[in-house]
Amino acid sequence: MIEFDDVTKVYPDGTVAIENVSFEVEEGTTTVLVGPSGCGKTTTMKLVNRLEDPTEGTVYFDGSDVQQQDKIELRRSIGYVIQEIGLFDHMTVGENVATVPKLLDWDRERIDDRVDELLELMDLPPESYRDQYPPELSGGQRQRVGVARALAADPDVLLMDEPFGALDPITRENLQDEFLEIQKQINTTILFVTHSVEEALKMGDRIAVFDVGELVRYDEPRNILEDP
Ligand code: ADP
Ligand code: ADP
Repeated sequence: MIEFDDVTKVYPDGTVAIENVSFEVEEGTTTVLVGPSGCGKTTTMKLVNRLEDPTEGTVYFDGSDVQQQDKIELRRSIGYVIQEIGLFDHMTVGENVATVPKLLDWDRERIDDRVDELLELMDLPPESYRDQYPPELSGGQRQRVGVARALAADPDVLLMDEPFGALDPITRENLQDEFLEIQKQINTTILFVTHSVEEALKMGDRIAVFDVGELVRYDEPRNILEDP
């Protein structure tokens, strides 16, 4: 589904963010990139949806080099959730979730049905939340809206960069549990970034451990637990 083949990213100022990174994300699985701040996790994510371009090596999505793919098409197939979610505060929850379907010119009824379906899935009953504005919600609720928005056009891949990072520990744990349930229903390939080893082991089918620009291990959580 997604493959990194010997990828190096050097920023214009000379910072080597990642060096010779190779790994493969299988369809339908969640791969977690874990490691300390500054080790190249966010850069790795941004190479998938072409927010950054590799300096060397190739990133494949669906069998072909992302650099050869149309950026707009690529981003339709790839949902993106970040820490400070960037919801549009002047737009209702419903309008936020409908952003991408509107760009895709879905008809009104299809959009409304999709918005309601996603808000239900995120445990935000549409009749109560559809017409609220993001500033009226809690941090955990806003993050759920962000996930709903990223899923709206049914992407093949969901990139999640510290999606629960800004939340208090209890809300964070609740959302992790909820998201594990949601994952089973949406059947989307997920690339998930966290600096928390605990979160990585909980959320991942595969763990990619980074250490200053290098991928040092790629394994299943149980193997990492047995042989850290
Ligand atoms: P992480 O997500 O693990 O915190 P990043 O991918 O954000 O790591 O950053 C990896 C390294 O690249 C860090 O040293 C960071 O400062 C640097 N970096 C990130 N973005 C840029 C940029 N736009 N220009 C220069 N250096 C950058
Ligand atoms: P995180 O650690 O969550 O990845 P950072 O705080 O490192 O985020 O980076 C925030 C933003 O600043 C990112 O978009 C990143 O690309 C950019 N950035 C990080 N380091 C640098 C840098 N040295 N020069 C320019 N931009 C940078």
